[in-house]
Amino acid sequence: MGFNPFEMAQQQFDAVAEKLGLSESIRALLREPMREFSFTLPVRMDDGSMKVFRGYRVQHNDGRGPCKGGIRFYPGETIDTVRALATWMTWKCAVVDIPLGGGKGGIDCDPRVLSMTEQERLCRAWVRALSANVGPVQDVPAPDMMTNGQHMIWMLDEYETIHHGKFPGFITGKPVGSGGSLGRTEATGYGVICTLHEALKALHIDISTTTASVQGFGNVAYYACERYLKLGGKIVSVSCWDNTDKKSYVYKRATGVDIVELKAISDKFGSIDKNKAKELGYEILPGECWLEQDVDILIPAALENQINKDTVGRISNSVKVIAEGANGPTTPEADEVIKARNIFVIPDFLCNAGGVTCSYFEQVQCNMNYFWEKDEVLEKLDLKMASAFQKVHEMAVQKNVYMRDAAYMIAIDRVASACVARGWAIR
Ligand code: GLU
Repeated sequence: MGFNPFEMAQQQFDAVAEKLGLSESIRALLREPMREFSFTLPVRMDDGSMKVFRGYRVQHNDGRGPCKGGIRFYPGETIDTVRALATWMTWKCAVVDIPLGGGKGGIDCDPRVLSMTEQERLCRAWVRALSANVGPVQDVPAPDMMTNGQHMIWMLDEYETIHHGKFPGFITGKPVGSGGSLGRTEATGYGVICTLHEALKALHIDISTTTASVQGFGNVAYYACERYLKLGGKIVSVSCWDNTDKKSYVYKRATGVDIVELKAISDKFGSIDKNKAKELGYEILPGECWLEQDVDILIPAALENQINKDTVGRISNSVKVIAEGANGPTTPEADEVIKARNIFVIPDFLCNAGGVTCSYFEQVQCNMNYFWEKDEVLEKLDLKMASAFQKVHEMAVQKNVYMRDAAYMIAIDRVASACVARGWAIR
């Protein structure tokens, strides 16, 4: 049996539900999504042929506000992955205490082999299929893996055409100047490092003396690296997907990774040129080696199921903190090992909540029709992220529980209270 992210999300929920002594009705409500959509998307290709794609949107829970969460373009996307990601969005919005629920969408496609016009038609088709079920007061999409501001603006345009008006609150992650917020692109990665910085302070470790290994070189990883470097940390290696070889590699340099330099030798798919990297003094290793570096900090910022029962044993004894930039990178079996080894984990739905927090700021700015300066956005982002970290950490210390469990306890309790108040469940 392959890895099923939704089973993992339910397993995590069940364990915490037991700890919290949640009632049967709350458990029944929160362990399943409220609504889900799975549909075909017939799209005209540039050569005149037709191709049928599969699209999804899962609305896990909207007890605290409209559903919120990204839409992924991912080859082999499944409903179970989208269900898991939608569930994690519910906990993510709750743990940073923003008035939104959890949703996620996806299309089973590989945008790297689609032209921009084909991607535009796919975006518009996805919105047409869901036009009655998403929107500013129902469910608000955003970018996720392999989608960006361009996709969001096509989706917004389709939605506004259908609904005859301007509805900037329909979608977030829009380009700046088209209703987007300054800082949104950086927000997830910066938020990861904000929580990492807080964790290191709690552990009495000076961030400028630390080293890190990062899995991924996409949007989250890039801005996490940028901020970590600014704070004086040293990145020993990053890993990156190679679109030609269809596998990932680790780019390692003992004197430290220069992300600007690596970005400059990346192609339009984000793949780093291996030969040029070698010339710059990088050692190129198999992708899974990111995990076994002798560093203080590991930052998984790529995919789910990366630290699992088969790989967890490869984590070096030097590792003190794991900051989860990705969604669902660590399985419950691996959690047990990490717990026993006393490695400090900043759980995904807290660590990477900076993106959705900034999306919330984008909505607020759109509603006021007044846009803040970048400094103001980033300052507010840090406030939210640091205070969410403090609350989770306090809970972990007070109840003597693992950070992931503490985050779950806070998030689930908030969502459960909102649902009980609405009469959807009883305590
Ligand atoms: N896709 C991002 C996430 O997983 C952001 C979601 C949003 O901004 O709504 O958190």
